[in-house]
Amino acid sequence: MKVGVLGGGQLGRMLALAGIPMGFGFRFLDPDGAAPAGHVGELHVGSYEDRAALSNFATGLDVATFEFENVPAKSVLALGGYVLVYPGLVALDQLQDRLSEKTLIRSLGIPTAEFVPLNSAGDLRSLTGLVGLPAVVKTRRFGYDGKDQWVVRSEEECEAIARHLPASPDTLILEGFVDFEREVSLIAARGRRGEMAFYPLAENLHLGGILRRSIAPAPGATAALQQTAERYARQIAEELEYVGVLAVELFERAGELLVNEVAPRVHNSGHWTIEGAETSQFENHLRAISGLPLGSTAARGVSAMWNVLGSPPAAESILEIPGAHLHLYGKAPRAGRKIGHVTVVSTDGSDLAERIERIAAAAPQT
Ligand code: AMP
Repeated sequence: MKVGVLGGGQLGRMLALAGIPMGFGFRFLDPDGAAPAGHVGELHVGSYEDRAALSNFATGLDVATFEFENVPAKSVLALGGYVLVYPGLVALDQLQDRLSEKTLIRSLGIPTAEFVPLNSAGDLRSLTGLVGLPAVVKTRRFGYDGKDQWVVRSEEECEAIARHLPASPDTLILEGFVDFEREVSLIAARGRRGEMAFYPLAENLHLGGILRRSIAPAPGATAALQQTAERYARQIAEELEYVGVLAVELFERAGELLVNEVAPRVHNSGHWTIEGAETSQFENHLRAISGLPLGSTAARGVSAMWNVLGSPPAAESILEIPGAHLHLYGKAPRAGRKIGHVTVVSTDGSDLAERIERIAAAAPQT
């Protein structure tokens, strides 16, 4: 099975690391010649918009996928002329714009934050009346890791924030700020015949919009909470005729779940599954897109995932921690950049907090 992946980042790299043992081969298309997936597969360096590069990339592939949602929809459309692409154009197109994403989720009766399109920065003050204060302005497309987001705390702040917003219309969304107790996410897989599998909810801690650590299964998550999240994921996946792994990011507030975002791909909050679940999210994505049976999503204990940001820790300081596994993506160090992660798996979770503390001390997030 030869799999083509649009994007050669760490997610593509971990897909290959999961697929190689099953005999899969990988080819990546990425504009960056230093893309981390180049170490584990054939790397085609080229633009996603170059038809000739796409046709060359597709030659000899059995199936193609993408590892980030900002790949142009047109490229997936063009690639689809040569090879089967999963999760496919509909999912990508609907989910890469926060406005169409939230509109779709709401149309399914699933709770989200209040939201309105913000077509002109000048409308900011009047529209905060609709979603309430505080509110969050986000770019509709190409936002990631909390980039291009502005929190509006009071009416007085509107003018100052409006001056910083992009001038072009139809690019922004305004959301009511959700006073959540915690953030959780559900990683789900849907196969070509519509069969689905769900991992246990993960509890995620974000700072400055960047995921810092996940714990899975999420401590204290009830069966009812898990079922609600699974129901939402199923509704969204079925509506989009989705094939592959998707991640649903949720806010938990007073026992209720609100969907914040759906990522049409494997996800950072699912990295714990590599060591912490029977089948990793990466393997299940490959199984799903190639029409193979999905693997068990059962947890092997309680896992924590800690993102390595900035520069790599000394390997010894991580590996001496019981149950810890180090993943480095082969990316150049840069302040705040995700360059790896550490997973620690504990049988019953009782020693998890202490081990996370040791990991945090060895790999401070700068
Ligand atoms: P996003 O890019 O939408 O995933 O947002 C990144 C992070 O910002 C989220 O994980 C939350 O921690 C925070 N955030 C985003 N939207 C909201 C909101 N409407 N209310 C409160 N916090 C938010």
